[in-house]
This record gives sequence, structure tokens and C-alpha cells, in this order.
Amino acid sequence: MADIISLDKKRSDAQAKKAKGNTLCGNGHHKWRIEQGQVFDSKKGKLVTRYKCSRCGKVKVKAL
Ligand SMILES: [Zn+2]
Repeated sequence: MADIISLDKKRSDAQAKKAKGNTLCGNGHHKWRIEQGQVFDSKKGKLVTRYKCSRCGKVKVKAL
């Protein structure tokens, strides 16, 4: 029984650490930086600006 309890504790500690590193990003507050301005997105068929979060690396595109 003691083994099972310690395993559970380890797992939750790891999750807490991971969440802490990207709290702002996890809440949707990304640090957007323009990665590429005015690139042609063939899927949308128009020019878009590419943004990349400098913390977590997430990418978004915005139509001009
Ligand atoms: Zn982010």
C-alpha cells in the first residue's frame, strides 16, 4: 500500500511542475511575436501574418 501512495505522489508532483512553467500560456496568455509577416496561406487562399509564442512555441495565423 505504501508503494502505491508514493507513486501517486510522484506523479502529481511532476504534473504540478509542468503546469507551473507555462501558467500564462496555459491560461491562454501567450507571448505572441510576429514570426513572418504577410505570408500566403494556400489553405485560406490569402495573405496571413504568422505569430509564434516565444514561451511555448505555439503558432497562430491571422488573416490580414
Ligand atoms: Zn505560449
